[in-house]
Amino acid sequence: MSRLVVVSNRVAPINEGEATAGGLAAGVMDALRHTGGLWFGWSGQTVPDVVPPESLPPGLPPAVARSGPVTLYTTDLTQRDYDDYYRGFANGTLWPILHNQTGLARFDWAEFEGYRRVNAHFARHLADLVAPDDVIWAHDFHLLCLAGALRALGLRNSIGIFLHTPFPAPSVLMTVPVHAELVRALCQYDLIGFQTEADRTAFADYVCRELGGTALEGGLLAAEGRQIRTGVYPIGVDVDALRAEAVAGADQPQLAALRSGLAGRALMMSVERLDYSKGLRQRFAAYERFLAKHPEWHRQVEYLQIAPPSRTDVEAYQAIRRELEGEAGRINGRFADLDWTPLRYLNRSFPRRALMPLYAAARVGLVTPLRDGMNLVAKEYVSAQDPADPGVLVLSQFAGAARELDAALLVNPHDEAGVADALARALAMPLAERRERHAAMLKVMRHNSLERWRDRFVGDLHALPPRALDAA
Ligand code: UDP
Repeated sequence: MSRLVVVSNRVAPINEGEATAGGLAAGVMDALRHTGGLWFGWSGQTVPDVVPPESLPPGLPPAVARSGPVTLYTTDLTQRDYDDYYRGFANGTLWPILHNQTGLARFDWAEFEGYRRVNAHFARHLADLVAPDDVIWAHDFHLLCLAGALRALGLRNSIGIFLHTPFPAPSVLMTVPVHAELVRALCQYDLIGFQTEADRTAFADYVCRELGGTALEGGLLAAEGRQIRTGVYPIGVDVDALRAEAVAGADQPQLAALRSGLAGRALMMSVERLDYSKGLRQRFAAYERFLAKHPEWHRQVEYLQIAPPSRTDVEAYQAIRRELEGEAGRINGRFADLDWTPLRYLNRSFPRRALMPLYAAARVGLVTPLRDGMNLVAKEYVSAQDPADPGVLVLSQFAGAARELDAALLVNPHDEAGVADALARALAMPLAERRERHAAMLKVMRHNSLERWRDRFVGDLHALPPRALDAA
């Protein structure tokens, strides 16, 4: 029987209860539990030397963990692999480019070589694990070159990739010296999934203009001597499960502590990895502007920013962290009083289930990335709300989620005055309007559920004619 084989940079800890699982991990684990199958990725460990799979004893490498129908396999990376592939090309080049931050991207040929080397290393391990009729689902920007490496080993399976990030306009992508290699590598996949139609179109534009490809019917592209199916699969959340977590956590001590600190003040809240793409600097500035313009809200509102440090060995992340620490201190220095701290800035992570009751307690959810593939926090915030008395989502127009959640207060994160006005409007929004907007967002999210994301992608992967595609 055909199995689902998932590949991503990291595999999730099997014990979900303890995991601070990001969107990718939660969605993938859910998909695999449903269909059964394998999940392969980096163990998170670096070792002095990695034994290449061809030097391992014959037979399958040992499974590292099993949970019901899901088996996890991992491989270690060397320190050099980590530096070149993960810290270097993936996080230092691709991530900023995919988020339009050309000024923060660096490029180094050796790092790109390392990226290809690790993709090939993953492929060699997978070749041992995969049966001929399995379908392979790769995730995200770490694995753009995986399909080509698998093809080079003679695998004829259907291989798809879902890009959780945005896909940039050709002019932005072309600032990376290896842009053509990257898109050619992507064209070795049979199915490429994007979060939004804008991302899919940007990819198709590149393929048609730069690689001489042709757009055919129904998202099919002809390029590089083959046909590639492209589609839009906005990742969703399990609305009811998240609301249940919000309700179940309503009596947790953390929430009681938060409430007593608030002393009746309205709570505004943001949660994200400390990443320059999330627009924290611009958001802090907008909050400062709001406080300056609306003295009537002084002491009436508190802003809680949860921002766990991320990719701390990449210089651009160290710089944004230093900058935000300075800004948070300065804003509090300017406005705080003996009995009021306007901005609470926490550099730590919380398990997702602990976040849900906090979201439910927040009158305003502030999600203003400069660019984001989807942004699951926006969907989680809306899911956590009490439908009878919901909070208001202020959402960047540049998050993938804005395509679906157009009933949020949509803002341009670069427009500090506009965001400040949206905050004032959100805090003062009448109940009837809050309910109407919340109901509209819930309706879209129930339709574009996590289940639908999984079923559509896996369904399309299974529906591909086996290897007939090479005949194009
Ligand atoms: N998250 C979490 N604990 C934290 C911060 C974030 O569990 O302290 C989760 C959050 O609930 C969401 C995910 O991490 O599910 C972040 O996904 P998103 O799409 O918003 O952003 P990404 O980090 O993938 O860029």
